[in-house]
Amino acid sequence: MERRNIYIQNQHIAYFSMEIGLNADIPTYSGGLGVLAGDTIKSAADLNIPLVAVTLLYRKGYFRQEFDPTGWQHEHDIDWKPERYLQLLPHKALISMEQRDIKIQAWLYRVKSPAGGEIPVLFLDTDIPGNDDQDRHLTDHLYGGDQTLRLKQEIILGIGGARILQAMNFSIKKYHMNEGHASLLTLELLNQTRQNLGDNSDDFSSTNIREVAEKCVFTTHTPVPAGHDRFPYDLVEKIMPRDIPLATLKKFAGEEDLNMTMLGMNLSRFINGVAKRHGQISQDMFPGFQIHAITNGIHPYTWCSPFMVRLFNRYLPGWANEPELLVRVDTISDDEIWDAHCGAKALFFQYIHEQTGTQLDPELLTIGFARRAATYKRGDLIFSNIERLLDMGAGKLQFVFGGKAHPQDNEGKKVIQRIIQQAEKMRGKIALVYLENYNMDTAAQFIPGVDLWLNNPMRPLEASGTSGMKAALNGVPNFSVLDGWWIEGHIEGVTGWAIGPAPHDVKDDSSHADRDLEDMYDKLERVIIPLYYDNHPGWVRVMKNAIGKNAYYFNTHVMMRRYVTEAYIH
Ligand SMILES: *Cc1c(COP(=O)(O)O)cnc(C)c1O
Repeated sequence: MERRNIYIQNQHIAYFSMEIGLNADIPTYSGGLGVLAGDTIKSAADLNIPLVAVTLLYRKGYFRQEFDPTGWQHEHDIDWKPERYLQLLPHKALISMEQRDIKIQAWLYRVKSPAGGEIPVLFLDTDIPGNDDQDRHLTDHLYGGDQTLRLKQEIILGIGGARILQAMNFSIKKYHMNEGHASLLTLELLNQTRQNLGDNSDDFSSTNIREVAEKCVFTTHTPVPAGHDRFPYDLVEKIMPRDIPLATLKKFAGEEDLNMTMLGMNLSRFINGVAKRHGQISQDMFPGFQIHAITNGIHPYTWCSPFMVRLFNRYLPGWANEPELLVRVDTISDDEIWDAHCGAKALFFQYIHEQTGTQLDPELLTIGFARRAATYKRGDLIFSNIERLLDMGAGKLQFVFGGKAHPQDNEGKKVIQRIIQQAEKMRGKIALVYLENYNMDTAAQFIPGVDLWLNNPMRPLEASGTSGMKAALNGVPNFSVLDGWWIEGHIEGVTGWAIGPAPHDVKDDSSHADRDLEDMYDKLERVIIPLYYDNHPGWVRVMKNAIGKNAYYFNTHVMMRRYVTEAYIH
């Protein structure tokens, strides 16, 4: 009771996200989008920002990944007990789909900061006695199933989420939609304002619309038209509650089909992309809107290895809640930075040995690559010319890979398989490990435990990227295509290295695979391998610059202060 009163004392920011990754025990995320949401919430807790988060409770998680002997990915349900981590709340919301009533309940998770702040995270689900049997499974899997299931989940998130907040008596100052999945909440808000005004007509007045838009913030993460969530109107007509007339819906969400990004943007006063370049690309894609850019970040304490935490605590006390202090990383000696890195590397190599039986050599330059195995990320690009790679790298390089492909993405699974099969071809010359089941736990050991963080997506598809920020924080320099956040963080040879042409030098609509590949091999051979082996002080300088010139800025504390001053308080 008392706790609930604290939540409703002041106005809150309601943060809606289809996936939220807080830790590996709560498997309700698939990759960067969810981890960003979790990190956002953690920084809000540290900074005492009054925020409440809303997402879905996936009882079978995303999936656990397993490889067969040919390197093909198989998926398994995750068996976890929500009751162990979350507290079921008494509040219910009612929605209707396919003309059936469905009850929604909410589970509470409290994100507590050592600085004293606390953020409630509401996980919604429909597994309630009394609901139709099929409806009880709507929230089983994240991104599972077809368009119909996806639309139903987005109705639960957007409309159900807004109603649960109302049932709990939250007073909401802003609704922040983290990507288009939550956009249906704008329809619920339209309805709520119409009811408040005692207006029963079907015609939404400009007053209604302005009132809703004033309250909404929309963050887009998708740099290409094909990436936006869309639903055909006949499906929408069949499933959606009939509160909003189709003609009105089409006005906001597009004539052809329901475009969740259009809907969210049309009803939000503040819209942003997730890096400067992504802001520009979104602006070109949606010329009718004003699109800002707030670059993503990572939660510093969560992603810092215990070895670096110890160092930072000693030399830069207060860094975790004021990461700008990392700008003074040069007060730490080279030896201490290097030793902390070697500690993280040794721990990770021990983990690799336990998981795979492979013992990597801690003396070798170790290149890491781990993220969702989406084809645009081109995980196998570096193996395009094996002879060249063996020529420069035998006895000098080794690789660790990780990452899951979406269950329906066979092309992504093929990329994984090709990488795993590559290991055989290089056996005895260059070691390569592909770790199973990449998640937040493994990421926290993985990223600090390698020497160089490789990232070679097709431009402009990496709207921001965040794993490279985790690397930088741990003194692991980035070797990356100039896309997303790296355009802002990259200083050649100082904070890390670029792969391929500069952003102003390329068209976004071709892959530049040849130029990227040539540059990647060339720089590895001429610059990176020699620096690592022949100029230790020079290497540690780049490590420190990654911390002092990248990590001090690319974090969710800085990001959240920007959301507050630029999007939330107005
Ligand atoms: C940080 C993180 C990501 C994001 O990686 P990108 O390289 O930015 O795509 C994906 N998965 C997990 C488990 C992460 O921790």
